[in-house]
Amino acid sequence: MTPLRIELLINNQEVPGIAYQSVMDPGRHAEQVGELAQASVAQVDDAVRAAHAAFAGWSRTPVDERVRLLQAIATLLDAQAPQVAELMARESGMLVPTCRMEVATAAHIVRDNAAMATDFLAPDVREDAASWVSVEKRPMGVVVGIISWNAPVVLTMRKLAPALACGNTIIIKPSPTAAMGLSLLLRQIASILPPGVVSVLHGDADVGTALTTHPLVRKVSFTGGGKVASIIMRNAAASMKDVQFELGGNDPAIVLEDADIDEVVPRIAGGAFRRAGQFCFAVKRVYVPESIYDDFFARLAREVDAFRVGHPLDAAATMGPMNNRAQWQFVKDLIARARQAGEDVRELGGLLEPSAADAGYYLRPALVHRADPASEIVQLEQFGPVLPVVAYRDEESAIRMANDNELGLGSSVWSRDRERALSIARRLDAGMTFINQAGASRLGQRHIPFGGVKQSGIGRESSEIGMGEYIEYHGINYHKPAAQA
Ligand code: NAD
Repeated sequence: MTPLRIELLINNQEVPGIAYQSVMDPGRHAEQVGELAQASVAQVDDAVRAAHAAFAGWSRTPVDERVRLLQAIATLLDAQAPQVAELMARESGMLVPTCRMEVATAAHIVRDNAAMATDFLAPDVREDAASWVSVEKRPMGVVVGIISWNAPVVLTMRKLAPALACGNTIIIKPSPTAAMGLSLLLRQIASILPPGVVSVLHGDADVGTALTTHPLVRKVSFTGGGKVASIIMRNAAASMKDVQFELGGNDPAIVLEDADIDEVVPRIAGGAFRRAGQFCFAVKRVYVPESIYDDFFARLAREVDAFRVGHPLDAAATMGPMNNRAQWQFVKDLIARARQAGEDVRELGGLLEPSAADAGYYLRPALVHRADPASEIVQLEQFGPVLPVVAYRDEESAIRMANDNELGLGSSVWSRDRERALSIARRLDAGMTFINQAGASRLGQRHIPFGGVKQSGIGRESSEIGMGEYIEYHGINYHKPAAQA
């Protein structure tokens, strides 16, 4: 059988690559999912020039028309979710229902951006006797979106929707280990837009470098790790590009002794082990008061023990494999070093097919009992299915430990007492704090600017603040003739 081959997309044309990367199933090493065309530096230049040429017309397309097209993109995503989910699951290791939900969430994101664009882009006009002033928002030009593997469609739409709403054109570079489903969706999205408005290039650091150094690119919006973000920042500096970074998190969950444990435990387990822990605002460390620690840990262990690890196409699986070898090895090594250092790591859950454990990047979900707050496994972002649970004596020390980290993306506080939870939330070094949940509500998704402080990133996504990342201000001042003034 010929493997599914995904080409590049430049100027709405499918373009063959200079080479093809074989995409293997992370849950079944022996199975090839397809082949991904790799772009050359010359093709990066072609795509940027096409996007630059398309910008002239797209930026002048009336906003109502751009909004109509965004709504059509959202409808397309909803319609495609069932078809693309299986392919996304096979290439990324994420469960099929998770992939289906991801595409549906991406459609919401596009609709939210469509709904706010017209008001957001309206000029701010003032007038006095002597003059008239208009502060206008204009698009930047060619935007590049560089995406990580763990939620490719959502992460892409958080960039593409506001960028297009504001009149920019965009080139997406997906992650090499989660590109196929995303690229197919982008092809269909591009087909309802003028040529060159959306392009897709596959590759890794070489293509990323060519994009982030190209003088016609005005902005780089990146989701991924801090190391690559530093390289991009240096590369973007030469031509003074705007950069926006959505980077890692090491999100603390602070449980207070009055929390409703029955409610908290499943939410924390879901918030830590969904996508096998591979998402940026996953719960990455838990702080529990000494007074309830043993009960809390026992209940959390029971909850985590119920996870069934298996291939993403297996309907019985509640946790899939890791996405790639490097991340799988990183988490395994982290656990091995923690054990060597005396940490009590407890592997839980069950493998649906124990004999196939070595056929994919499988890890069982694990908890670290009474983790040392200074240990590496608490201090580093694990981005995998191992959760350290730290005991604390008083609220002050819990806040201090939560803030004692270079990352500051999300965080959560768990309590029945709203005021007490709020007062702790306001003292956390984080871009977002969720109270009694491990993520945002639908209202929160619309209105909270998504992003982090310290080394978790620069700038925000979602909401009007996120849309503001894709515009330049243009101030126009009309001086009235002396006779009118
Ligand atoms: P990564 O930094 O290794 O790769 C991200 C992307 O950068 C990939 O598309 C990769 O091909 C590309 N890239 C690699 N070298 C490049 C270069 N020199 N120039 C330009 N692009 C280059 O990250 P990852 O391993 O894919 O993702 C994991 C990280 O992403 C974790 O730290 C996670 O927390 C973070 N993340 C953050 C968010 C957020 O919104 N804050 C969301 C998801 C993931």
